[in-house]
Amino acid sequence: MTPDEFRQHGHAVVDWIADYWSTLDQRPVTSADPPGTVAARLPAGPPERGEPFDRLLADLDTVIAPGLTHWQHPRFFGYFPANTSGPSVLGDLVCAGLGVQGMLWSTGPACTEVETVVLDWLAELLDLPARLRSGGSGGGVIQDSASSAILIAVLAALHRAAGGRWRGHGVERAYRVYTSTQGHSAIEKAVRIAGLGDAGLRTVAVDPESLAMDPAALRTAIEADLAAGLVPAAAVATIGTTSTNAVDPIPAIGELCREYGLWLHVDAAYAGAAAVCPELRWSHAGLEYADSYCFDPHKWLLTGFDCDAFWVADRAELVEALTVLPEYLRNAATESGEVLDYRDWQVSLGRRFRALKLWFVLRWYGAEGLRAHIRETIALAGWFAEQVRADQRFELVAPSPFALVCFRLRATSDDAADDEANAELLARVNATGRAYLTHTRVGGRYTLRLVPGSPYTREEHVAQTWQLITDAATAHGRQEGP
Ligand code: PLP
Repeated sequence: MTPDEFRQHGHAVVDWIADYWSTLDQRPVTSADPPGTVAARLPAGPPERGEPFDRLLADLDTVIAPGLTHWQHPRFFGYFPANTSGPSVLGDLVCAGLGVQGMLWSTGPACTEVETVVLDWLAELLDLPARLRSGGSGGGVIQDSASSAILIAVLAALHRAAGGRWRGHGVERAYRVYTSTQGHSAIEKAVRIAGLGDAGLRTVAVDPESLAMDPAALRTAIEADLAAGLVPAAAVATIGTTSTNAVDPIPAIGELCREYGLWLHVDAAYAGAAAVCPELRWSHAGLEYADSYCFDPHKWLLTGFDCDAFWVADRAELVEALTVLPEYLRNAATESGEVLDYRDWQVSLGRRFRALKLWFVLRWYGAEGLRAHIRETIALAGWFAEQVRADQRFELVAPSPFALVCFRLRATSDDAADDEANAELLARVNATGRAYLTHTRVGGRYTLRLVPGSPYTREEHVAQTWQLITDAATAHGRQEGP
């Protein structure tokens, strides 16, 4: 493809995306096709001869779009959002066009330096502690996901807990990593990948009301492990748990981590974005205790997947744990010690210029625009929670500090029937194709979750979804009260 052909087809692709976004509202949120449908629409093998680009574009409409769950849809309320935006897509396009491989500072100086500066900007926007920023001993880097960030934090923690021996000798002792029963499954996976086995993870009880980690239970777990000759290495606290958005008490957890010498990683994958709003920064209290912290701009900050922002308080410690320097990567800049080589901050060697999309997003929206997005989505969630509260057939299940609302049909004395009724209600709503919600279990009970996050979502979309939910409740035999 020549540059001129690229220009022509590139314009058509941008038009296609703009049309896709502006017609989302008219599409079903999910595909009703059974498994194998998309694969059956594809030829059995690759084309022998190149095809005209128009045919590819046409297949986006006939093969791809009908087989998608539309995450950017204004009535997509499942999981946590993963919203992109115009500036993010354009930043990614430039990244793809430049095709830079930024594994070392020397393989793309701008790739490294923009990332360092943008992560410092982001730290300022969230008002993160100075020790996480690059001006001191810390610094930020973009990981593909919060899962990778947690893994990196666990590896650095093991290196520290082993007095610097982990890198050379691996896991020599029975290290333990702590998180609450509500911590994300990525923590379990990280502990397993780190070679600690499932026994390496200790899940700590939560306060039954807030569902946030109980620091007294953390202390008990640490002391019991110490008494048994095990080695507490790290704690992962969460700001905004996946099921209910509980916020762990970071100051108390941080104190314990200091007392017992644990690495504290704070996982704010979804809710970290809230800290762009000063009125929501209470959720980040105690972050000065963190050895590392991450959040996903790819969830709630209008930056397309993949983009996890990860900071460490002591970058030298991280680099020491992960660095490997073969001859073929040696270069004068690295040896001068004056540059950051982000390959030492992650699992893979190679890395894309992901900071571009974040840079585009921050510059296009500005702090004001990002705060407006967070506040608007929280207001939509608040509106929805009001409807739930006002309808005696439903109940709110947990506090809603951000934009996640957990709710269900009001409990009766029959737990199993309640769970079934809620699961049926969810299936009925999702089967309409007009909205999409997902579920979790809270206190063992089936619970529905609604999270607005799309910049296209307006109150009318939430209202339409509430209507679908109440219709489903009525169809299920739950009549509206007086
Ligand atoms: N941590 C929390 C609290 C999450 O909610 C999630 C995903 O929803 C993750 C970690 C994992 O995120 P990622 O997909 O970026 O690995």
